[in-house]
Amino acid sequence: MLSLPRSQRAFPNSHVGMSSRDQNTETRLLKQQMTDFIDEARNNERKLRRFQALELKLVSLNSILELIDSLLNPDPAVGWDHASLLLFDPKHEVQHIFKDEGINLEKKPSLMFVSSMDEMEALYSASLFPGLGAYRPSKHARLFKHEHKKPASVVLLPLVRHGRLIGSFNIGSDSTEKFVRGVRTDFLEHFAAVVAICIENSINLERLKRQGLTDTLTAINNRRFFDQRISEEVEAAGRSGKPLSCMLLDVDFFKRVNDTYGHQVGDLVLREVASIIRTQLRSSDVLSRYGGEEFSALLSNSDIGEAEEVAERIRRGIEKRIFDLLDLEPFNITISIGVATLKAEANTHLDKKSADILIGQADQVLYAAKANGRNQVVCALAFFPLGNEISPAGS
Ligand code: GH3
Ligand code: MG
Ligand code: MG
Repeated sequence: MLSLPRSQRAFPNSHVGMSSRDQNTETRLLKQQMTDFIDEARNNERKLRRFQALELKLVSLNSILELIDSLLNPDPAVGWDHASLLLFDPKHEVQHIFKDEGINLEKKPSLMFVSSMDEMEALYSASLFPGLGAYRPSKHARLFKHEHKKPASVVLLPLVRHGRLIGSFNIGSDSTEKFVRGVRTDFLEHFAAVVAICIENSINLERLKRQGLTDTLTAINNRRFFDQRISEEVEAAGRSGKPLSCMLLDVDFFKRVNDTYGHQVGDLVLREVASIIRTQLRSSDVLSRYGGEEFSALLSNSDIGEAEEVAERIRRGIEKRIFDLLDLEPFNITISIGVATLKAEANTHLDKKSADILIGQADQVLYAAKANGRNQVVCALAFFPLGNEISPAGS
């Protein structure tokens, strides 16, 4: 905390009537006072620099994971012994983002979420300013529940963006003297503002990334996401030696649906197709809208037989779904599916070329399925490393 020197004392107005001994004592006291002021100013300067260094570090971090780690495990130089972060997350969206980014929330008990604003505001009933004082179990126990040894004094920093409380960053010290009422809090307020901006920015960035990789019509991943993931999946399959299957799915005569029932019904059908495919896949499989009325799926650790079974279940599920819409004759649609599988020796280095070949194979057999009369699954078995023969097999 920034604080005033210990030996504050009013300056005497005059030395009239003082003995020389009194004057010497007075001079000594003044000198002491001056030294205290200078010490305190230096001390404050040091603290300010440490906080500024931490702020600079926070704004330069690249990921939300790094940000959370820096806040919850601060540099000891900053001088706090305990820290926790409570975030307002009414729709659990932030928790999903953190999980997707690889943050294991169970292993981070100092990172907490509340879904009710009342709970959040209870911490700051009086005002949205840093709350300093002795540790009080009734108010602070839940913020430091993960700590075996509780802090002696605490400061709660309200994280505010656009006038709204988005969270509370809570710092504890083992010293009772560290966070006491009445000391200056201006640079803590500044620090809280920086933390709030950093948290909001990194969450917004993650939101944007997700929006950029999601198809707005069907709410599944888009082509961009698929293109990124297929390279990662192919690389992983090369490393592990486990098979990777790729499925391309194309709705049959979809143009007719639009022409007969209108574009809006076409949209509805596409959403339903996405949902039927999704239900047949494992959560670890990567489903994307490849374009228009085409979808793609990546099934890791699935050989050709397993992938073919899944594809057949999807085909049947779509065939038997009757669209019984207001004022329209009930109708159904069908889908054609091409499946290709990559199987490498473990520890094979596979790159984008292998991914392109895998998609190319799936596309070829999809074309065969169309040419053979549609509403069917056709498989190709791809062997890697390159140069090995690909053995197509109808179904
Ligand atoms: P095929 O069996 O050979 O695949 O025939 P098809 O009619 O499905 O294929 P074609 O490529 O001729 O037509 C695809 C149609 O999908 C044309 C396009 O207008 C429509 N389409 C693409 N995207 C959307 C969309 O987002 N919504 C709707 N309603 N239609 C779409
Ligand atoms: Mg098509
Ligand atoms: Mg089509």
